[in-house]
Amino acid sequence: MTASSTTIRRVPFPRAWSVRASDVAALVVGNGILIGAMWVRHGQLIELHSLTGIVTAGGQLAALYGTYLVLLQLILMSRSPWLDQVLGQDRVTLLHRWVGFTAIVLLGVHGVLTVTGYGLANGSGPIGEAVTMLTSYPYVLMGTAGMALLVLIGVTSIRAARRRVSYETWYGIHLYAYLAIALAFMHQLAVGTDFLGDPVARVYWIGLYVVAISLMLVFRFGQPVALSLRHRLRVANVVVESPDVVSIYMTGRDLDQLAVRAGQWFRWRFLTPADWWRSHPFSLSAAPNGQFLRITVKQLGDHTSKLQRMRVGTPVFLEGPYGNMTGAQRTRPRVLLIAGGIGITPLRALLEELPAGAGDVALIYRARRPRDFVFRKEIEQLAAMRGAVVHYVVGRHGTREMPHDPLEARSIQRMVPDVAQRDVYVCGPVPMMDAVRRNLRALHVPDAQIHDERFSFN
Ligand SMILES: Cc1cc2nc3c(=O)[nH]c(=O)nc-3n(C[C@H](O)[C@H](O)[C@H](O)COP(=O)(O)OP(=O)(O)OC[C@H]3O[C@@H](n4cnc5c(N)ncnc54)[C@H](O)[C@@H]3O)c2cc1C
Repeated sequence: MTASSTTIRRVPFPRAWSVRASDVAALVVGNGILIGAMWVRHGQLIELHSLTGIVTAGGQLAALYGTYLVLLQLILMSRSPWLDQVLGQDRVTLLHRWVGFTAIVLLGVHGVLTVTGYGLANGSGPIGEAVTMLTSYPYVLMGTAGMALLVLIGVTSIRAARRRVSYETWYGIHLYAYLAIALAFMHQLAVGTDFLGDPVARVYWIGLYVVAISLMLVFRFGQPVALSLRHRLRVANVVVESPDVVSIYMTGRDLDQLAVRAGQWFRWRFLTPADWWRSHPFSLSAAPNGQFLRITVKQLGDHTSKLQRMRVGTPVFLEGPYGNMTGAQRTRPRVLLIAGGIGITPLRALLEELPAGAGDVALIYRARRPRDFVFRKEIEQLAAMRGAVVHYVVGRHGTREMPHDPLEARSIQRMVPDVAQRDVYVCGPVPMMDAVRRNLRALHVPDAQIHDERFSFN
């Protein structure tokens, strides 16, 4: 089985969620205001007349907003398709990072202010008060243990530390977040001043947890299990594309019912005894055709090396589809695709799927060495069939043969003079993508016409 041996069959488009970024922002801010109002309702403003009152009330406010941010983190981690559609993976990743750090700081502030406030009130000093609280109140110990886990997650997510630990270790540590959230929940309902005497506040707070956990259960667990059981994917063929790149073809049941578009990606879990527990993101490298799904994988590390030797018949669990770099983003009749290295995969699928007349699609394909180009034959065939123009750009930038960046603004314009009138889809190494976006802006391509996908969540 090969990609060129099939004809395209239409599959349904993924559901378009009628949620806008402004709706999400209004919900987040609205709940933020409700939480502030709850704090005021519980008399905390009155406490602000003394230093002890200010410190203790400040500690409570920090706990409320710190926990609220942790719950928002759960939603950001839920892999909800509506969130992916509204914000895109890059913004979700960025938000996840900063919401996480802010939550940890606020919860740390809560701990410090609370022991200081109670220490001042009891005349015992913060250290003495901390010891008393930890040894006398089991729910305080729980909260502290949860906090310690969150700090561990935060520390391993700082960029310098993140580079030193493997993705799997970092991810494994992140799983402790669930335990931390459970501990924080029990701590808050057992000792939180805002919830002890106010059943409405208690119900509201439990409701926030229920919403966040339900989104997690539905989209992170329920939807992938249902999808995988329905389609029962298996590896059907593994084709060597170059010395370090293979294409994996997968077949299954009812693939003509699987809603997905070219340009999207799934998290794939190959159910082998050694690797069933980890999923990795890969884009479709052929347009969905109702008969098979194809990914194309460059050997980069431990997992992608194993994928080069994946056995035919291996069952596959899939989660998704994700990603917005699709034909739905298109604003212009003409399109330019710019691929760097293995970033060709989603663009190869788009080249196949985007509706276009002669000359409407141009592809610039950049690689360091000629052997790094994959799909050359397929691309030639598709280009001939669809009237697309292809520019191969090969060479190592900064050498005598190639002193300048071959994707600098004037080079792009020389290859595609009407670039400013096109939608531009970009995928490749992150530094290349950043440089291309700058160069496109210099060529007056509006941001709304630039669509990209990063092969990295770092
Ligand atoms: C949206 C998206 C689409 C992608 N599409 C393709 C594609 O079509 N073809 C292709 O060859 N590569 C693709 N990648 C990159 C691919 O996912 C990584 O190269 C692969 O996961 C590396 O795994 P490894 O264990 O072999 O390498 P490692 O050396 O262990 O990891 C290299 C880097 O890959 C990332 N990574 C590792 N494991 C995971 C994981 N489980 N989940 C997320 N990131 C991880 C980390 O940033 C890590 O630093 C894509 C990545 C993303 C985010």
